[in-house]
Amino acid sequence: MAGTQRNIAVLGGSYGGISAAHNILKHTLPHLPEKETYQVVLISPASQVMCRPGCPRALISDDLLDQSRFFVDIATQFEQYPKGSFRFIQGTATELDHQSRTVTYSSAARGGGEDSKPERISFYALVIATGASTPSPLFSFGPDEKALRASWARFRRALPAARSIVVAGGGPTGVEVAGELGEYLNGRAGYFRSKLASPKVAITVVTSGPRILPGVLRDSLAEKAEGLLARVGVTVIKNTRVASVAPEGAGTDSEKTKLDGDVLATKTTVTLENGETLEADIYIPAVGMKYNTGFVAQSLLAADGRIDTNASTLRVDKAGPRVYAVGDVSSAARPAVHSILGQIPVLSANLKRDLLIEAGVQDGKTAGEDRVFKEDTSETQLVPIGQSKGVGAFSGWAVPSFFVWLIKGRDYWLWTTGNLWSGKQWIKEG
Ligand SMILES: Cc1cc2nc3c(=O)[nH]c(=O)nc-3n(C[C@H](O)[C@H](O)[C@H](O)COP(=O)(O)OP(=O)(O)OC[C@H]3O[C@@H](n4cnc5c(N)ncnc54)[C@H](O)[C@@H]3O)c2cc1C
Repeated sequence: MAGTQRNIAVLGGSYGGISAAHNILKHTLPHLPEKETYQVVLISPASQVMCRPGCPRALISDDLLDQSRFFVDIATQFEQYPKGSFRFIQGTATELDHQSRTVTYSSAARGGGEDSKPERISFYALVIATGASTPSPLFSFGPDEKALRASWARFRRALPAARSIVVAGGGPTGVEVAGELGEYLNGRAGYFRSKLASPKVAITVVTSGPRILPGVLRDSLAEKAEGLLARVGVTVIKNTRVASVAPEGAGTDSEKTKLDGDVLATKTTVTLENGETLEADIYIPAVGMKYNTGFVAQSLLAADGRIDTNASTLRVDKAGPRVYAVGDVSSAARPAVHSILGQIPVLSANLKRDLLIEAGVQDGKTAGEDRVFKEDTSETQLVPIGQSKGVGAFSGWAVPSFFVWLIKGRDYWLWTTGNLWSGKQWIKEG
């Protein structure tokens, strides 16, 4: 098979895909015979990667987080590798044919839209890392950095006139965005006050459970978070959900709503399941992640819509040999960056094993066992509430507000992303 190009296609240019590509280039490719015949092909709709966890703050103003580190060009991060070993395609996977082992994609170079002529590549191995999208365009590339920035610009135009904001969802994103907006717009109550008496902008978080941050942090930390929110003018309504919003699609960016005018940041009537009605100048849905799997056969999906992934080996067993899934789109673990960091070395090692066996260099015995992924299910989550406070736990230990600020709230993880995007994170295989 000398001379034949073997594509290792990686779909998705974010935490999962970029890390997978670097780790494979550093620790898998160099061990293969005829290594010059392999090429890592990264396909992603945006030319840049972003520090996604920082969106709750970044959406308010470009001045709050260093933009040159928030958005980083993908292709230049891979110039360090031998010529021909890497290729970046700015495009969107539109169809995975796992039987004939090809991926069809619409290329941004050809306009990227649905009308642009699709292109196809065959893959020798495949890593699916297409993540998840949010209903609100404020927290996702939709599809690229230009679209995200345009959404932020529309939101920012509406912000100065807003006197009431409703956030649906009491998970980390809802709590963080409410906290950021609260502090930015209202300031923070003085030291001895438990809440801000008459905030300039009334911010309300609606959460379906009896407390915020369910399944994320223990009760006492959720209570503490609610107290910190109150101090920046945020009220929490519990035990009910948003039943409907008018205009329909408020807070989103769907094609349907675009026809009716811009409803991303518009006056909204929010009706709750308990019958209560809230009037909001801006409505932010911070619930309902949608996995980016539209290009994958239904037979490869788990019941919850993620890619049905072997949680130990990260292989997509039903998709044929040398197909893997990592990150939010994979059913292997809960969606979180630290979980992805645990998956990458496992993916890379098992891919290496599979490729060496396929190349006839090793067999099932000499290649040894698969490397096994084990999800860290400890209570680990840091939730900043504004620019100086927060709640959190690390490996099951509650941590003080100062620690949350130091590790996350200070710059929303920007101190970590440089090494991730450049691949320095993976100098050691991990
Ligand atoms: C507001 C917010 C705050 C968060 N805060 C934290 C936090 O503090 N800590 C933490 O651990 N996690 C946090 N998360 C979760 C974290 O961001 C995700 O776990 C992480 O981004 C997942 O990375 P990923 O690579 O799996 O997918 P994503 O980050 O979802 O990236 C998927 C990539 O695939 C691309 N893509 C999509 N469809 C296709 C296609 N068809 N073809 C090719 N490419 C495609 C996308 O454009 C994107 O580049 C947060 C998430 C949000 C939304």
